[in-house]
Amino acid sequence: MPQADVIWKNGELVPWDEAKIHVLTHALHYGTGVFEGVRCYDTEIGPAIFRHHEHVDRLFRSSSLYYMPIPFTQEQIRQATLETVAANGLRSCYIRPIVFRGEGPMGLNPLDSPVDVAIACWEWGAYLGDEGKANGVRAKVSSWRRLSPAGLIPHAKATGQYLNSVLAKIEATKAGYDEAILLDDAGVVCEGSGENLFVVRDGRIVTPPQTASILDGINRRSVIEIAGDLGYEVVERDLARAELYLADEVFVTGTAAELTPIREVDDHPVGTGEPGPITREVQRVFEDALHGRDERYRRWLDPVPVS
Ligand code: PMP
Repeated sequence: MPQADVIWKNGELVPWDEAKIHVLTHALHYGTGVFEGVRCYDTEIGPAIFRHHEHVDRLFRSSSLYYMPIPFTQEQIRQATLETVAANGLRSCYIRPIVFRGEGPMGLNPLDSPVDVAIACWEWGAYLGDEGKANGVRAKVSSWRRLSPAGLIPHAKATGQYLNSVLAKIEATKAGYDEAILLDDAGVVCEGSGENLFVVRDGRIVTPPQTASILDGINRRSVIEIAGDLGYEVVERDLARAELYLADEVFVTGTAAELTPIREVDDHPVGTGEPGPITREVQRVFEDALHGRDERYRRWLDPVPVS
């Protein structure tokens, strides 16, 4: 269980153990919540939240897609997040803002239930492990298909939708792999259970386009920009499953996983079986950006006021 001192809940900071909800919370029954995963790093310019505005913006877009008006402005949520990190005295942490339909009438129409907002943060290391970030992880193509835009909204970061990722992650870990890669109904590669995916072949970087059933990842965008700045051609196009096996390099990106190389897919070693040179180079600059070591990307950092 993670732990910190306080959690922001509907406008005030409350002690960690008191940030509770009722069992008849609408979101608990029907998955009517949207959320974000954000990180704060101890950077060269002090603790700072990476691409904070973009995360707040996506939270509001996700909530609007599910007809959930947030009773705060984007600026209030941004300030509340900065305040929560500062109040917990954390210099680097994972941040979880969540917006959900609270205690109200049961039944599928959520529109008469209140919209509750909470922001928690805690210390959390690399999601796929420091070892994984350094040497790569083993992935399995899931038998579960990525949720279809015909039934849900892949571009929303919504709580209920994560049952799709949960099934894929359980299947992969029970089979002895670190992560799952999901295809869509047509067999086209989408993404990891909680990360976007990139393939390197013949010096070019390829990633599924935003029109695919993927989350429009903020780190995906950052890595596309960084790779472009490094002079690499980045192509956004559909990827066939076999391209995962034929790739020279594969890596995934996400707030929790940061940039993690994939060293094996379905027991095929990727390239030499070790993270390749392009992955390493992009990862190094990306890590510099996260930690404020590269001035070009300082504009992505939102400093946390510390006393
Ligand atoms: N896809 C899914 C399904 C995710 O859960 C995440 C994590 N938010 C990502 C991609 C990566 O998105 P981001 O880079 O914005 O964290």
